[in-house]
Amino acid sequence: MEKVMEKALEALGLSDTNSGGFAGAWTGSGKLQTVVSPIHGEALASVTNVTPQEFDAILAKCHQAFASWKLVPAPKRGEVVKAIGDELRRNKQALAGLVSLEMGKTLREGLGEVQEMIDICDFAVGLSRQLYGLTMPSERRMHRLQEQWHPLGVVGIITAFNFPVAVWSWNTAIALVCGDTVLWKPSSKTPLTAIACTKIAEKVLRDFGFDPAICSLAIGRGSDIGDLINTDPRVALLSYTGSVPGGRHVGKLVQERFGRHILELGGNGAVIVSDKADLDIAVRSIYFGAIGTSGQRCTTTRRVIVHESVLGTFRERLLELYRKTPIGDPRDGKNLMGPLVDPAAVATMLAAIESVKAEGGKILFGGEKLPNPGGCYITPCIAEVSGNLSIVKEETFAPVLYLMSYRTIEEAIALQNGVTQGLSSAIITNDQREGELFLSVAGSDCGIANVNTGTSGAEIGGAFGGEKETGGGRESGSDAWKAYMRRQTSAINFSGTVELAQGITLEM
Ligand code: NAD
Repeated sequence: MEKVMEKALEALGLSDTNSGGFAGAWTGSGKLQTVVSPIHGEALASVTNVTPQEFDAILAKCHQAFASWKLVPAPKRGEVVKAIGDELRRNKQALAGLVSLEMGKTLREGLGEVQEMIDICDFAVGLSRQLYGLTMPSERRMHRLQEQWHPLGVVGIITAFNFPVAVWSWNTAIALVCGDTVLWKPSSKTPLTAIACTKIAEKVLRDFGFDPAICSLAIGRGSDIGDLINTDPRVALLSYTGSVPGGRHVGKLVQERFGRHILELGGNGAVIVSDKADLDIAVRSIYFGAIGTSGQRCTTTRRVIVHESVLGTFRERLLELYRKTPIGDPRDGKNLMGPLVDPAAVATMLAAIESVKAEGGKILFGGEKLPNPGGCYITPCIAEVSGNLSIVKEETFAPVLYLMSYRTIEEAIALQNGVTQGLSSAIITNDQREGELFLSVAGSDCGIANVNTGTSGAEIGGAFGGEKETGGGRESGSDAWKAYMRRQTSAINFSGTVELAQGITLEM
């Protein structure tokens, strides 16, 4: 297959053949992998995977780098993260172009993804001066009780294909200011963007005179390199983003060695559309939530639960938008939807549509494969269903939207919560009582619950993650940083005598 050397690759320092391992020096003598773009089905470049022996050496260097990095004052570590953010600003267009080229999201979404990386760097710079511990009153006289936070070690970062660069940055920016080093294993579907990001971090670390192994990389299959990360005690924290079955496997292995993990797994986002909703807001936010990234976001809107009195109007207005969805080359600004990530994803979507029909659902629109080269283009689908059918309970990672109706708000909330995943949810309503109910303990059971905005497009300022089979992990903003550090509680006695807690005496 002939390779297409695109400008974005050159701008980011990639070449025709690239090494897939980094820990201060580039290595990789394992399997040669050709990366094919879903946009046109043509080869972009090749990547050599790392062997298990090379992985071991990479992890050893990353672990070694922790010994000195943890001693660097946190605000100084923040300066490094600030410079990474600046480098991302300079490379925003090229990196967004490569994201689009490698996994197929629209260029405007690629630009948004890189912006998210810049935003989390800015957040982390501020955080580097705010890694606060608490002090508490001691129950003992002339004693002080305090908590402080120390760096943890190597953070393993395993990422999914759909946010090939942002998830690395959410973890890396926070881990670096916390004094940890990182070892990244990206999805095998998106190794080029991972190499580009690692080169950016490498340049900055070298400019500052720090060991570039602080940001290491190991590209390889999940079943070999992934499992080495899961089982190696040198990886203090594993932040894993991927499917529920993948997370179940990873979680068990990390737990077995008493490692720590952050699991960011699959979602099954739903939006409730009330009879008191502003339908303009409902239609627009659900449309973007369902077709954005071609339905391949963990926060994608997959289910819409509409009050029966507005179902007819809502259905027609949404179908109107679906019918005119511009689909094609995602780098062309006029298109709102690009390809799915690979032909297998298209086949999965078609199989799900067959299951919907077999379970009595009605296909209202879409699910037609388009003849574009590469075989990854398909029209987004809307299916009307009678509730959470078994196929509806599954996360089909493609643009299939299930429409269902409700009578009472309690019934709608039960439908929203009636799946095993618990990532993102929303209600569109102008009734404050309904909105508050949705956010209350009797409302959504998800990690994200929005009012009058859709399920996708989370901001970095909040902690991101979900409940139930979504894994319970949190990353990005708020106090998610605490997972990247170890907490130490200290009692300091300045009384000159020994006094035991709980009033226990040493009298003899
Ligand atoms: P996937 O589960 O196929 O792969 C995710 C990662 O796991 C890849 O890097 C893969 O190589 C790796 N992996 C595979 N086997 C492994 C093993 N034995 N040990 C360690 N790692 C292994 O997921 P995908 O298709 O790339 O991405 C889609 C999934 O990710 C969806 O379920 C989506 O909802 C989820 N996702 C979740 C979030 C979130 O924040 N909750 C964000 C993005 C994607």
